[in-house]
Parts: sequence; structure tokens; C-alpha cells
Amino acid sequence: MTLIETYHLEVREGEMRVQAFMMSDTVARHTLDRLEQTAVPGLVQSSIDRNSLDWDVRILVINDQALVLRDSNHGVMDSLAGQTLIRPEVISAINRQYASVFRRDEYALNVAVSINDEINDRVGAVVLIADVSDISYTVANIRNTLLLYSLAVGLVVVVLVFFISHRLIAALRTIMKVIQRMAVGQLNVRIPVTSKDEYAILSRAFNNMAEKLEQQEKTRDEFVSNVSHEMKTPLSAIKVLSESILTLDSVPEDVYREFFQDITNEVDRMTNINNDLLALVKVDQREQSIHLTTINLNGLVEDILKRLSPLAEKKKVVLLYEEVRRIEIDADDVKLALAISNIVENGIKYTPRGGTVKVVVDSDGQFAHITIQDTGIGIPEDEQDKIFNRFYRVDKTRDRDTGGTGLGLAIARSTVHMHNGSIKLTSTPEEGSVFVLRIPIRK
Ligand code: ADP
Repeated sequence: MTLIETYHLEVREGEMRVQAFMMSDTVARHTLDRLEQTAVPGLVQSSIDRNSLDWDVRILVINDQALVLRDSNHGVMDSLAGQTLIRPEVISAINRQYASVFRRDEYALNVAVSINDEINDRVGAVVLIADVSDISYTVANIRNTLLLYSLAVGLVVVVLVFFISHRLIAALRTIMKVIQRMAVGQLNVRIPVTSKDEYAILSRAFNNMAEKLEQQEKTRDEFVSNVSHEMKTPLSAIKVLSESILTLDSVPEDVYREFFQDITNEVDRMTNINNDLLALVKVDQREQSIHLTTINLNGLVEDILKRLSPLAEKKKVVLLYEEVRRIEIDADDVKLALAISNIVENGIKYTPRGGTVKVVVDSDGQFAHITIQDTGIGIPEDEQDKIFNRFYRVDKTRDRDTGGTGLGLAIARSTVHMHNGSIKLTSTPEEGSVFVLRIPIRK
């Protein structure tokens, strides 16, 4: 039995019960005895206001012997009047218990209540039998409507699923094609973005990644070509020098010495480049290679200046140190020392005799400020951004004399970024340069 059918039957039973109790009251007033002896025509019909009912009901009045005294179907062929009706609901009602039975074969609902004829101290029963086939129609109707709706919804869902999955599969195919092309080295391919949905978000993220990969590939190619270019100069110098020695017959010893000194200088130059490249690779590994400890920044700077003072003396450059504040900072001491040292060394290298390089250590509470100021040759404004690029030098010929590799500032910038800090440069040609390193005190 479906829920809908149960619900309708319960509602109908409730209505019938009310009617049955009203009937039982009316009958009790006429007393069962009188009913047994006399016919009271119309009693059964008038007790129920049939207009109030939109269903067909048959009413039986039964005495305590289960004998049917009245049947609203009187005069009809199947009238039960005068017959004994042994049915569970009749027995229950005679025993003063309400009962209802639904007979599916007849599609009839039987409701039985007892009649309490207190005047004669007798009990009887009123049985209401209702044809509830209308409920079966209603249920069938609802079931059909639901089925129709379910079919319609099902159809819509199937169509939607088909379209969505078709779109998704098409989108995934496009992504797959782009990935396959990237896998064979075509890094310039991108996924076309036409919609505004999740697929577009994914495509944009993918395109972003592809962009970065392409950029990295470009940087790597440039880097390799820069390295080979840098190595080419000392290598060809060595070749020229050694070939010259080989072609000369009897050469004085001091000429030999001079040539070999030049060869040694070129080898030193290659060693410097190699060391700087190794340092750069290390700082490029970023998070993996950073070891933060709490260090005394002033001590670190003092050590750097002590180490560089022979170079400053040799170049007749005055090296000054000013400590505005003493600062403890969370940093990788080895890497930070290399960064500061590269900038101070540049100051000494690019400052003529009699000039000054001054280092100031200060803080604003949140950041440490390390200022390296020189009275050197300065850097033209349009070069100021470029000097942090790998192998970039303002004056290539002069830098060969100073032994620069063009990697010092690239190392310094990577290191400072690694510490979540920044470098600011202000410089005026022929007057000098100021580099300010700003590094968070706590990680
Ligand atoms: P290098 O090893 O050549 O010094 P860097 O990366 O340290 O390489 O510096 C890049 C270039 O920036 C230098 O070659 C130089 O031309 C310029 N430069 C760096 N620091 C200074 C400075 N304090 N004064 C003038 N020029 C500088």
C-alpha cells in the first residue's frame, strides 16, 4: 500500500468514524428494542446528512447477537437485514471496541462502533461500509502524474548530463592536447579561454603555469649562453697567450713570466665566475637552502668590514661604520654576509682613490636597514634596474680590470628576497651610490 493511499484511507476513516459515532448516538436514543420490534423507516438515511458526504456509504445497525436490524440498502437484493453478520469489526464493536477494516478485494472501508443502549442495558453496533474506489482512482492519478513528472525530470537530467559531460570531455580533450604539445617541448601553446566557469579558472591557472615555464626556459637559455660567453673571453685570452709563447723562439724569462702571470689572472677570473655561479645556484634553491638563526647583525657587518679593509686600504678608500642601533635578526648568516659583502666590495671597487664607503646599521623596529653608501663613479639612471641582472655590467671594459663577474648583485638580490626583504638603490653618476637593504627582523 502506498503512502498516498494510506493517507487517503486514514482521512476517510476519520470522517466515517465521526459519522458512525453520530449514528450510534441516534440509535441509542431509539433503543435497540424498539428497532427490533418496529421498523423506523428513514432512520438510517436521515441519521446521515448524505449531502455532507462526497462518497457512497452503506449503514448497518446490528444487535448484540450480530443480527443486522437495519441495512441502508433495504429493499435491495443484497440487503443484509435479518442476517447474522460475523465479522471481526462487528465482534469488536459488540465488545465495545472501535474497529475498522479495509477490504481490498471489495475496495471497501468498514468502520464499526458500539451502540450503548443504556436504558435497556444492551450493546449493539453501527457498521459503516464505504466504497472507496475513488481513492484508488486518486492514487492511480497521483501515481501517473508523479510517473510523468519523474519521466520528464529524468529526461531533463539525462539531457543536461549529456551536454555537461560532453562539454567537460571536450574541455579535457583540449587541455590534454595542450599538455601533450608542451610535453614535447612546445612551451608557447596555451588553452583558449572562452567561458567564465571553473574550466576557465583551471585554464587560466594552467596558462599561467605555462607562461612561467616558458619564462624559466628562456631564463635558463639566456643563463647558459651568458655563462659560455663569460667563459669564452678568458679562454680565448689564455689561448692567445699560450700560442704566442709557443710561436716565439728565444724569449727572455721576464716575458715568459709576464705571459704566465696573464694566464694565471685569466684562470683566477674563471674561478671567480665559477664560485659566483655556485653561490647563485645555492641562493636560487630558495627555501630549501635557507637556515635561519638569530644573529647579531652589527657583529656580522663588523666582520665583513674587517675582512674587506685590506682591499679598501689597497685602493686608498676610507671604510666607515656607523652603528645607530644594535640589532638581533633572524637570518641565514652565511648568505646574508655574502650579500652585504658583495655590495660593500662593489662600493670599494667602484670608488676612486680618496673616496669613502660608509655602512650604517639601523632599524625601524620591524625591519633592519643596512645602508651602504659610496662616493664612487655612480650608476646612470637607465642602468640602475639592470645591474641586478645576472652578468650585467655597466662598463664591460672597466669591469674586466676590477675582476667583476656581473653576478655579485644578482646574488645579493636573490638573498635579500629569500629573507623577504628588499633592496633600494639611489645613485648619481660621478657622485656615488646608496644601496639600502631592508630585511625583516623576525621571520
Ligand atoms: P660585478 O662583479 O661586475 O661587480 P655586480 O653584479 O656586483 O657585478 O655589479 C654589476 C654592475 O653594476 C657592475 O659591473 C658595475 O658596473 C655596477 N655597479 C655595482 N655596484 C656599483 C657601485 N657601487 N658603483 C658603481 N657601479 C656599480
